[in-house]
Amino acid sequence: MTKTSSNSSNIAENLTQIQLNISEYCLKYQRNPQDVKLLAVSKTKPAEDIRKAFDAGQTCFGENYLQESISKIHELSDIDIEWHFIGAIQSNKTRELAENFAWVHSVDRLKIAKRLSNQRPDALPPLNICLQVNISEEESKSGFTINEIETVVDEVIALPNLNLRGLMAIPAKSENLQAQRKAFAEMKSLLQILQTKHPQINTLSMGMTGDMEAAIAEGSTMIRIGTAIFGARNVVGL
Ligand SMILES: *Cc1c(COP(=O)(O)O)cnc(C)c1O
Repeated sequence: MTKTSSNSSNIAENLTQIQLNISEYCLKYQRNPQDVKLLAVSKTKPAEDIRKAFDAGQTCFGENYLQESISKIHELSDIDIEWHFIGAIQSNKTRELAENFAWVHSVDRLKIAKRLSNQRPDALPPLNICLQVNISEEESKSGFTINEIETVVDEVIALPNLNLRGLMAIPAKSENLQAQRKAFAEMKSLLQILQTKHPQINTLSMGMTGDMEAAIAEGSTMIRIGTAIFGARNVVGL
């Protein structure tokens, strides 16, 4: 089982533990550990925790809340972090995303993709994006439906300042490995369908602290881990 009793005093140890978990699950499911990237999700956590993780070798960090993340990006501008945005996107905030992040995983409307492409500064490389899929078809979650994805992919690929890397999902919570795997397996098939036309799309951003084994089993290439690295978040609902 993935360890979840972590706290911020041992961030370096937690990262080592997660890398061990990744290796273990890759062995179990016949994956290459180099194909599973770790995104450290630092929402609600202070910049000093991010610095500790960076000093322990972690370079990619995921944030959910724009204002909070911009302060941390400025505070940590002396170190070479790759910033990923994974939170809900308000359309009037796309400019700050386009200017400050390397990746946005949570693109859930075509309008957002167009704005990000228009607002990406010329001096920066294209913005890496994933399209969020509402894989469990929950009312409360954003994202494209499986049926919408193929059309949207064709439109997003045509946008000049974006680099469409893949798909992202946050499936409905389940404690059961088989149920978790089912949702992730649908993501994997969806990616395979897209790859017949667009072989360069190869990212599956899926798996969190509670379902990383299932995600790795079904082909995740980027797991987004917060709690197991930085400890529990105090704020209810985040
Ligand atoms: C908070 C969050 C995570 C990390 O969740 P943990 O359960 O703390 O590992 C991953 N992805 C998204 C989109 C999140 O909002």
